[in-house]
Amino acid sequence: MRTDFEHIVLGLGGLGSGAAYWLSRRAGAAVLGLEQFELGHVRGESQDHSRIIRLSYHRPDYVALAKRAYDAWATLEDDAGEQLVLRTGGLDLGPRKSAIPLETYMDSMTACGVPFEHLDAAQIMRRWPPFRLDDSIHGVYQEQGGIAMAARANAAHQRMAREHGATLRERAGVSLVREVGGEFEVLAGETPYRCRTLVITAGPWSNEPLSHFGLRLPLEVTKEQVTYFAPSDLAPFEPSRFPVWIWMDDPSFYGFPVFGETAVKVAQDAGGKAVDPDTRGFEPDLENLGRVCSFLERYLPGALGPQLYTKTCLYTLPPDRDFILDTLPGHSRAAVAIGAGHAFKFASVIGKTLTELVMDGRTDADISGFRLNRPILAQADPPKTYMV
Ligand SMILES: Cc1cc2nc3c(=O)[nH]c(=O)nc-3n(C[C@H](O)[C@H](O)[C@H](O)COP(=O)(O)OP(=O)(O)OC[C@H]3O[C@@H](n4cnc5c(N)ncnc54)[C@H](O)[C@@H]3O)c2cc1C
Repeated sequence: MRTDFEHIVLGLGGLGSGAAYWLSRRAGAAVLGLEQFELGHVRGESQDHSRIIRLSYHRPDYVALAKRAYDAWATLEDDAGEQLVLRTGGLDLGPRKSAIPLETYMDSMTACGVPFEHLDAAQIMRRWPPFRLDDSIHGVYQEQGGIAMAARANAAHQRMAREHGATLRERAGVSLVREVGGEFEVLAGETPYRCRTLVITAGPWSNEPLSHFGLRLPLEVTKEQVTYFAPSDLAPFEPSRFPVWIWMDDPSFYGFPVFGETAVKVAQDAGGKAVDPDTRGFEPDLENLGRVCSFLERYLPGALGPQLYTKTCLYTLPPDRDFILDTLPGHSRAAVAIGAGHAFKFASVIGKTLTELVMDGRTDADISGFRLNRPILAQADPPKTYMV
């Protein structure tokens, strides 16, 4: 069994599968991916049918990265010969005075040349009749918003990484990383592997591998959930007629048209409690579900219907809710990415950026807002800002 590789990716969820894919496009068989569970497992952050993808973001650097994200998915779609992004249009809506002001989104898109429409409540209800809104509500519609097909995209990254020559090993949990003679030794089970560059994409478990580099980040892991509702009339919620949407206030909710199930999916963003990823349960939080149902009763009553199921999933949250995407201090050939509970849409472009960081020592992507040396990550008890 081969144990000497040029590049190792530690953790094969959404981001790590993206990294394995982009590394393999350039380095083929010199790439190894290690996953502690089975590929496609449901204990982390990246499973389920769908994730929202959008250009609409509160800062220009995210909008710019989102443009690159669409390009990266398109490359993968071409390579894999399957569709992985479905455009439905995206609607961000909420009170004119809210915890998440839409103005910052409009300003960022304007700065990046992204077209959008600013709509009042009447216009929103004319275009998407299931909404029940009063005049205090406004919204921003951006036509490129849509669905990143999460489980299918992960499988495509993994399949294509293997087709480009990479080795992906399941049930290969990494327990030790150390630097030996300018290379990395990575112990997975009983097997010591060697590599020259290392990508850490361990999601909720990130602090374990980072501890071998003397790092501990102030990350909070929360147990989130989504619920599939089967309304009696699905027709107004077909993806050709209904957008992905985000309610921009605290609490924040989001939802999808019919996709993956004969049902719509709705959830509260960052509505979950802190958990340990190794001991967490999978049962739904009924209070959280109650908040989602109350929201739907008031603003989207036609979406309520029998609940098919509620599925839990984890967020790994830095205190400012910004990504971590950087090389490790003092180790230019080791890099880390942490998704902050909104990175699936960027999974492929983050994989590409990690590849550039460890292979070229640089990237054209603006990652200045995602660096490890930002002051808040060094604070002992940093303030948490999850509503962005
Ligand atoms: C309910 C929910 C809704 C979301 N909605 C959206 C959305 O609409 N749009 C969006 O863009 N994003 C969304 N996100 C966020 C997005 O899904 C995550 O940011 C992204 O999936 C993070 O992927 P990851 O690879 O970092 O983590 P993970 O998928 O958890 O992958 C980490 C992997 O590393 C493995 N691992 C860890 N430690 C080791 C080790 N020592 N050895 C080997 N393997 C190891 C783990 O087993 C795991 O497979 C959502 C997340 C959730 C939970």
